[in-house]
Amino acid sequence: MTKSTRGARQPALEGIGDDKPRCRWCRRAIASTTGPGRPREFCSQACRQWDWVARQRARDLKLSEDQLVLTRSELNDLHDALYVLACAVQDVRRDLEANAKPTARELGDMLRWILDCADPLDSIRLRP
Ligand SMILES: [Zn+2]
Repeated sequence: MTKSTRGARQPALEGIGDDKPRCRWCRRAIASTTGPGRPREFCSQACRQWDWVARQRARDLKLSEDQLVLTRSELNDLHDALYVLACAVQDVRRDLEANAKPTARELGDMLRWILDCADPLDSIRLRP
């Protein structure tokens, strides 16, 4: 895959599946820092704040730091987006099983289908 086809998404995906530092709240990759000072724990001030809010609410509700309270609608949105992506993966897998030698155009169509179905996940932000 060329760099141009991945565009701005590539940095957000870095760090998943490896041991690069990731934001403590949203799990997106954090650029490694060198030099003195503590390593960054958050990708943004917003994530630092949401993590703080989550810890405060967990304390208020006597939950552990690893437990969160989400709204049903946020959970439903996440499940819906994951289901759409899972269906797209199944579609493409079935297409590849039926066609062992897809053309570049067919592969492009499959990739676009998966990317289109993955797009809703990019906008989901879970809040405590
Ligand atoms: Zn973050």
